[in-house]
Amino acid sequence: ITKDDVFLKEIPDIGFPDIGGLEDVKEEIRKAIIYPFTHKELYQMYGQKAGEGILLYGPPGCGKTMMAKAAAKECGAEFISVKTSTIVSKWVGASEKNIKQIFDIARQGKRSIIFFDEIDSIATRRSESEDYAKRVVNELLAQMDGVDTASDDLLVLAATNEPWAIDPALRRPGRFSKLVFVPEPDLEARKAILHIHLKKRPIDDDLDISYLSEITDSYSGADLAAICKEAADIPLGEALRGGNPRKIKMQDFETVLQKRKPSIVSWYI
Ligand code: ATP
Repeated sequence: ITKDDVFLKEIPDIGFPDIGGLEDVKEEIRKAIIYPFTHKELYQMYGQKAGEGILLYGPPGCGKTMMAKAAAKECGAEFISVKTSTIVSKWVGASEKNIKQIFDIARQGKRSIIFFDEIDSIATRRSESEDYAKRVVNELLAQMDGVDTASDDLLVLAATNEPWAIDPALRRPGRFSKLVFVPEPDLEARKAILHIHLKKRPIDDDLDISYLSEITDSYSGADLAAICKEAADIPLGEALRGGNPRKIKMQDFETVLQKRKPSIVSWYI
């Protein structure tokens, strides 16, 4: 396993306009992350300590990772995403060092956002590796406690589908003290998400996106993205078999929806 499997540093390529719905979440992110970066002097002038970690939580596939990435893009930061589960499972022994290394790399860059996906995978682990999972968490906490946003230009975000399972130590002030709920898409959001994923595809006049958003209650953003892809696959397949390329029709969506059921069913129970 290489470092690339554990974390990835990139210039983010998606921004708020690429995320359908979630307007309240975007506004919360602006206040918590973007303004402290873009209006640093004001925050300092009023003695507001910005830069506490943010924990994004909510059902799977609804845009937590996208939101973290877009936050980085919106404030001109580099995005360092950490596959948290890989740290625990693969880098036995060296894991704490790697947490430190990730923070060191982030500090060297100009402005960075570090994003820990599936943070619950280290913060709740109860197994034979519990001790070293604890060491990883302790190192993470030590690094977060040491972040001084005035000089570091560094923010830490994390995501989880299981906020109730998070070690309370992670939630203390200065750490992941701010929780932001990323909900499943409502009707308007589903419409916006479908528009985004159909923007670059040829669609027939008979395709009624409003109606599609109505019949996709409980479908996540990831489900909707998949539905658009699968619907496009139908005329693509036909064209590959020699047919005339045609636009994507309502019928294609109906075919796809018969097979693909909503994935957000049990999350709230
Ligand atoms: P998980 O909890 O499973 O990690 P997540 O909440 O981090 O999921 P993302 O990785 O952000 O979800 O979303 C997965 C994919 O679903 C995205 O790459 C995108 O194609 C699509 N998607 C999800 N939400 C939205 C949205 N609000 N607007 C547009 N696309 C979306």
